[in-house]
Order: sequence, then C-alpha cells, then structure tokens
Amino acid sequence: MRRNIKKRILLSAAACMALSVSLSSCKKSYESEFNEAKVSVEEGTLTESTANTAAAEAQTLTSIGPTVPADNAQEHVSAETSAYIASQTATVQSGSAGTSSANAAAESAAAINFETRDETVYITKDDVNIRKAAVDGEVLGKANTGDSFHRTGYSDKWSRIEYNGVTAYISSDYTTTTVVEKKTSESVAFNTGWEFGGNSKINSGTATLYYATGSNKKGKTVCVNAGHGTKGGSSVKTLCHPDGTPKVTGGSTAAGNTTATAVSSGTTMQDGTSEAYVNLKVAKALKSVLLERGYNVLMIRESDDVQLDNIARTVMANEMSNCHIAIHYDSTTSNKGAFFMSVADGIKNMYPVSTIWQESDRLGTSVISGLSSNGVKIFSGGSMQMDLTQTSYSKIPSIDLELGDKVSDYSDSTVSVLAKGIADGIDVFYS
Ligand SMILES: [Zn+2]
Repeated sequence: MRRNIKKRILLSAAACMALSVSLSSCKKSYESEFNEAKVSVEEGTLTESTANTAAAEAQTLTSIGPTVPADNAQEHVSAETSAYIASQTATVQSGSAGTSSANAAAESAAAINFETRDETVYITKDDVNIRKAAVDGEVLGKANTGDSFHRTGYSDKWSRIEYNGVTAYISSDYTTTTVVEKKTSESVAFNTGWEFGGNSKINSGTATLYYATGSNKKGKTVCVNAGHGTKGGSSVKTLCHPDGTPKVTGGSTAAGNTTATAVSSGTTMQDGTSEAYVNLKVAKALKSVLLERGYNVLMIRESDDVQLDNIARTVMANEMSNCHIAIHYDSTTSNKGAFFMSVADGIKNMYPVSTIWQESDRLGTSVISGLSSNGVKIFSGGSMQMDLTQTSYSKIPSIDLELGDKVSDYSDSTVSVLAKGIADGIDVFYS
C-alpha cells in the first residue's frame, strides 16, 4: 500500500510538470492523491507492525523532493512540494516516532555530495531561483539568461556558487560552462486577461522590454511611455475610470464625461513638429540613460505609431514594470517649464488609485526635483492635479510628465539634460 502512495506521488508530480500547470493546481493534485492515501491508511487495519512499515516508507518519501527531475516547473515548485511532501510525511508518521518536516528537508539538502569546482557557469533560462541552501533554502535572488557565477561545487541536481559574496545554490539543470549571451530585449504583447484589460479598445501593438546588462542591475523596470502616436486613437472612446464613474477634472476631455478618446493626437510644436515625435525623442534618450544605470526599460512606443491605447499602455505598465512615466509637452506657448500631473483629490478613494496615489505623487515630486537639480525650468510648484486615464488605471507609481510646451527647446543637448534629470529623479524615488 505504501509503495502505491509513493508511485502516485511521483506520477502526479510528473503529470503536473509535463503539463506545466500552475503550482496551485499541482498542489491540488498532490492533495487529492494524498487524501486518498490517507483515507486508505486510516480505514485499513493498521497493526503496530504496519504502522512501523508506514513510518519506514514515509521516511523514503522524503527523498522524493530532490529526486524528482529538476525541470523548469520543478525548480519553481521544489520548495513548496518538498515542504508539502515533508508535511504529508509527518501526517502519515503521526502516532509513531516521526522526524519533523524541517529536519527531513535539512537532511535531504545535507545529503548532497558536491564535487569541488573552480569555474565560471552561465545561466540558461530566466527567473531561476538562487537559494541559501540546496533544494528548499530561502530564495536570495533570481538569475536570468546569460548571468554568470563562480561555481565552487557541483552535483547533478545542484550547484554551489558564489552570489554577492555569500555561498548560494542553484539548480544544475540551468547552468552551463559554455558562454550564454544575455538576453537584451523581448517583445511584449497585450493580454486582455490582465486587470482592466477588457476596457482597452486598441491593443494589437507590442511594447519592448529592454534588460539592463551591466553589473549594476537595479532589479527594477521603468515603463517609458512616449505620449500619443496611435493612428485612429482619437476616433475611439474608452472608459475614463475602470468603474465607469465620470471624470472629476477637465483636460482634453471635460469633467463629467465617462468616456474619453482612447489616445489623442497630441499638440504640435511651434515649428510644426508633432508633440508625439518630440516625446519619442526624449523617451529614447531616457531609455539609454536608464539602461546604463541598471534599470530595465519597458518602451511602449519606439516609432511613429504603436497600436496601444492609453488603457492598454497603463495596464501593460501595471503588469510588466515597477513605475510608469509618460512623456508629454503641453499645448501652451509660454515656455512654462516642466511639471507632472498629480492625482486629483476626487479620485483618491477610487480603486486602484486609492492603493497607489501617494506613491505616484512621490514619484512625480522626485522626478521634478531631478529635473530642477539639472537646471530645467519648473512650472509653478511642479505639479497640477488632473484626472487622467493613465492615473485612473494605474496600480504602480505612475505620472504624466509635461516637460514643457509648444515653444520649449528640444535640441539634442536639451533632451539629454531632460533624460538625465528624469533618471536622477527615478534614482531619488528608489533611494
Ligand atoms: Zn501630450
């Protein structure tokens, strides 16, 4: 009977991993298998001798964690499944002298024999756990494709590496001694299943996620959103607020409306150049500075047109980045200076604004301080309350940044100062 339990666990584990199902459904599968097993144990005739057999067999079960093939899914679930198997083992053992689940896990990790190595290894996939102890130790960080480490010990399942000056462990399955190039970017498509994604009307375009490749990685992704530049966007209407309530301030759409243009066409600089073009010029300069400083960058638009409306851009930023900065110029002709659109009082209690507005305003204040310290002219107090689609749908710190207006200079030298100023502000925000 005990053999049967073990076989079922292994089969269930293999099936879960083969199908790459989520951890929760994987766990559910373990659970049902184990419940079944537990029932048969309880209903069966457990004599003292079979109870002892159960304890002995249960001890065998603890070896399942580390012996299940370490493929992609396994690396992600190993800690959880090991703990689960250990806890189930304890259940089976209850009544007999049992080993605690913690002890069992520690024994499994300690049992690994590492061959001494002194070599550089490269990581072959993204999001690989770096653990304090092999098998199920605390996750200290994540390694991505092309990252390299000094390996000091090797077993077929686990490698001992040096990580930020401490000893750590990583699945050997994702290591190679052959050089692996770092992934520098990937295309990001919109997913209507993302929260509020159903409110977007234009979302066939793709954004690009750029990865910082230097040794100064911040582990943060900044969404850089060059405002406007969506053909057909001004003839489509989308809900101003996720909950359908009306706008509380004016702007390109007046207060009281429940819908606004999906993406407006923007203003035109005094020399006839479109605002969208200038926004993109700044966005590209900002991307370079941020990547140099170790931030990943999600670029919403990199050419004249991207088919992503303001809701799609915001939802994408929510899902793929840590903060969102939209670049704009205002339609005045006074060379007014830079400011950000702070969160309007009237929407501060509306979800999701209620969860993040203080951080959005702090991001805005930080960016304005960065611009100011680089000598950029600042308008009034540096902010203006506004109820924007971007703000209303943001679940991460998010600002609409107006860098000037129709008569502001956007020469290469000015744009590079603006990019540095914004990046300085982001550094302040995360410091
Ligand atoms: Zn604009």
